[in-house]
Amino acid sequence: MAIDLKSLRQRLKKSNATIESRILHLCDPEQDGPVVPDIPACSMYQARDEATLAGRFQSVIDSDPPVDRTIPEGAAKIYLRLGSPLEWKLAEALALAQGGETAIMFSDGMRAIASAICFRLHTGAEMIAGVPLYGCTDNLFTNTIPRMGVKVHFVRPDDLKSIAARINRRTRVVYLETVSNPSLTMPDLAAVKALLSELNERRLPGEHITLVLDNTFATPYGCNPFAIEPHLDDLIVVHSTTKAINGFSAGLGGVAVIPWAYWKDLFLYRKDHGGVLSPEQAHHLLTKSIRTLALRFRKMQENATVLAALLEAHPGVKRVFFPGLASFPQHQLAKRTLRDWYGKFAPGHMLSFVMKGRTQEVAERRGRALMDHLATSSSFFVVAVSLGYIGTLIEDPNRGTHATISKEEREAKGITPGLLRISVVIEHPDDLQRDLLAALDRAARS
Ligand code: PLP
Repeated sequence: MAIDLKSLRQRLKKSNATIESRILHLCDPEQDGPVVPDIPACSMYQARDEATLAGRFQSVIDSDPPVDRTIPEGAAKIYLRLGSPLEWKLAEALALAQGGETAIMFSDGMRAIASAICFRLHTGAEMIAGVPLYGCTDNLFTNTIPRMGVKVHFVRPDDLKSIAARINRRTRVVYLETVSNPSLTMPDLAAVKALLSELNERRLPGEHITLVLDNTFATPYGCNPFAIEPHLDDLIVVHSTTKAINGFSAGLGGVAVIPWAYWKDLFLYRKDHGGVLSPEQAHHLLTKSIRTLALRFRKMQENATVLAALLEAHPGVKRVFFPGLASFPQHQLAKRTLRDWYGKFAPGHMLSFVMKGRTQEVAERRGRALMDHLATSSSFFVVAVSLGYIGTLIEDPNRGTHATISKEEREAKGITPGLLRISVVIEHPDDLQRDLLAALDRAARS
């Protein structure tokens, strides 16, 4: 069944309903249509005549900025690498969820990140990145981007003075994780936006500095950087949709939520570099994931709050990092930054903690014992990387996601031995608490 983009837009624009209901009902069936759309199984579209096909190409050429602020429908009916109606629909829904103007989908989170940065960079340009970062992003900035002749400056995301000090005429991108991986350190988004907005006012449009934020940990439900004052024209929010947005670890995906002014350039970048989201993944995200995001996230967050309190009170744990705890170093900033669709504090579903030990070796050994117990007992915890799966996940960033970074650099970035990261999801909290307490007990005896 062809997707009727016009009726979708009308439904999305029912602005007196909550975002939650608008997203939940965006896939309602057309009259006499299937209740969920079909997955397209073909790589191109047939045109009625020559003029129709030429008109579809022309709609892309004319789309700067897109006419009536909607993604050109013609571009979704040429060839799958350019886009598809299903993907357009998903992009509109994700832009609504994230509070941005529009969005472009990608094959995975890393492709969304690399594209959102590279379409703004050129040889001789510079960028600034807050550390710690997700391991592959770190590797991209440390090893790949510099080989393109781009200088990357690394700073602490919470150190505004260092960010400001590294900016010069060649700076094109500032890249930050809204809640960083795995330490949960947060930048002051209001302050960074104010800094860049003031600097951009004095620059030519082509020389603007773009703020690219990875909001994967917080999700579109838990943080809306677009809504944080002051306004910044040059803001992109990226997500790995593989994580909590997908919710079931059923495949890879990514999204860049962007202002209309960026649509054509980023669209053409993806057209030429590839990295389009698969139709199967677009279908999954649209019909299942995004429609259940708010419901799942609230439960995940409730459970994470319970586990963070349990860990903080436990004698075998040295430190817990969770934005919802009063002891979290940036608790006040978190309360201002992490706000859900209803304006309520959203501390999220991710937490990390450091095992206690006389030495780092002991702390690390205990961490391993805890994970082994969870893996080999009948616990509900799953020992695996990634986050936002339907089951609660635990991993050791030192020996997993961040293992490619040198030990010295890891230490400098606060990724110390004995640090463990949990992605809490939707099991009953009693079961998670029981499993974790038993594993902590076992770790203390190791
Ligand atoms: N950003 C963050 C914060 C991540 O944790 C990950 C993956 O774990 C990515 C980006 C990359 O996403 P993907 O695996 O979909 O490429």
